[in-house]
Amino acid sequence: MFEKVLIANRGEIALRIHRACREMGIRTVAVHSTADANAMHVRLADESVCIGPPPARDSYLNIPAILSAAAITGAEAIHPGVGFLSENARFADMVTEHGFVFIGPTSDHIRLMGDKVTAKQTARDFGIPTVPGSDGAVADADEAQRLADGIGYPILVKAAGGGGGRGMRVAENAAVLGEAFAAATAEARAAFGNPQVYLERYLGKPRHIEVQVLADGQGGVVHLGERDCSLQRKHQKLLEETPSPALNQAERHAVTKLATDATAKLGYRGAGTFEFLYQDGAFFFIEMNTRLQVEHPISEMVSGIDVVREQLRVAAGLPLSMTQADIKFTGHAIECRINAENSVNFRPSPGTITTYLAPGGLGVRVDSALYEGYVVPPHYDSLVAKLILHGTARNECIMRMRRALEEYVIAGIDTTIPLHQRLAAEPDFIDGNYDVHWLERFVARTHP
Ligand code: ADP
Repeated sequence: MFEKVLIANRGEIALRIHRACREMGIRTVAVHSTADANAMHVRLADESVCIGPPPARDSYLNIPAILSAAAITGAEAIHPGVGFLSENARFADMVTEHGFVFIGPTSDHIRLMGDKVTAKQTARDFGIPTVPGSDGAVADADEAQRLADGIGYPILVKAAGGGGGRGMRVAENAAVLGEAFAAATAEARAAFGNPQVYLERYLGKPRHIEVQVLADGQGGVVHLGERDCSLQRKHQKLLEETPSPALNQAERHAVTKLATDATAKLGYRGAGTFEFLYQDGAFFFIEMNTRLQVEHPISEMVSGIDVVREQLRVAAGLPLSMTQADIKFTGHAIECRINAENSVNFRPSPGTITTYLAPGGLGVRVDSALYEGYVVPPHYDSLVAKLILHGTARNECIMRMRRALEEYVIAGIDTTIPLHQRLAAEPDFIDGNYDVHWLERFVARTHP
């Protein structure tokens, strides 16, 4: 096993990775921007290196600075966390070329799945159903018009290199397709440096169901069940739960098998997630994430498996520490994403934390890098805490969610805690009766 790992990330996820390393006797190196000199991930790590000024492109995305930090501190491996460089195939290659281990899949797998067009094609080659749409990238607005007539409206124009819910535009009919095509292309070029877009049928009431897989590249492949991530705003997840209240056992078995079969066929190594839309009893593959995901803790809560620990093991050339038969799923888990933003108008709310009191008790896990006096910087993603609840059944888990949200004090900034409280009291949520479009309507209804 590695003796020292550099964590190329910040915030709660850097802390999460640090914790797994610590429990395995691995020393950690934190990197940070000047804005994060006092951050918790820096305080807890064994060593830390400043890698640049606040903007992410100059620090957390600054590959030469990160590689230098690894060389100076004698780290053997680099964990990219989520976001930032975690799905950057060039970074994975450079890490390896400089003699470090990249804690993640091979750069070939990142490349194959990072482009959603080739990912969908690969899924189809494996016999996995995908959302009906264009077979590949669409050259121009005229071609889009022609293809859309065959696919049927409404149409979703999606960026091939997209992520984080960006680079997506809905066209209700042919009259607005040209506009949607141009807007998605422009956003894709600006955000991802890749203007390619493709078309999908815009489904009316799908649920987002994803499957967490782990593989060691030596024949060991397991899944940690599915996650229902349908509660989204602007295509970004806000609350996730497992198991999905929408699936029966046969459907659960079917979707997890699609994912593990594909993982085996790919010869994949590492942690990964297969994302599907589920509507009218059918699953349609949309993309694969070749990295750790923000919502991984709910799978850990019901399976008892530490996803980051397994990532470290397989990166070090060890087999997974379990087989599928060893994994026993117990109870229900929910994650509330707590963002530093206003819960009504969703404006970002950076600033100083004047009081901080995290909830505790049975079945409560808080993954957060907040502390009293900490200044949430304005430069990064607004996620500041994940409240993760576990209960023997879904009802108990929701009651625990309500109780823990009541206890949670984060003063000095606005957070999405009040939104989660409204959700926890909402009959549709309590009944598990929601799709990916539901939350937007709920927000509009409760705050017109
Ligand atoms: P990203 O990589 O940006 O997260 P995804 O392809 O994973 O993009 O889609 C994000 C979300 O957008 C999905 O979870 C779903 O809510 C919505 N979405 C994506 N494709 C479709 C579709 N064809 N029809 C309806 N909603 C969709």
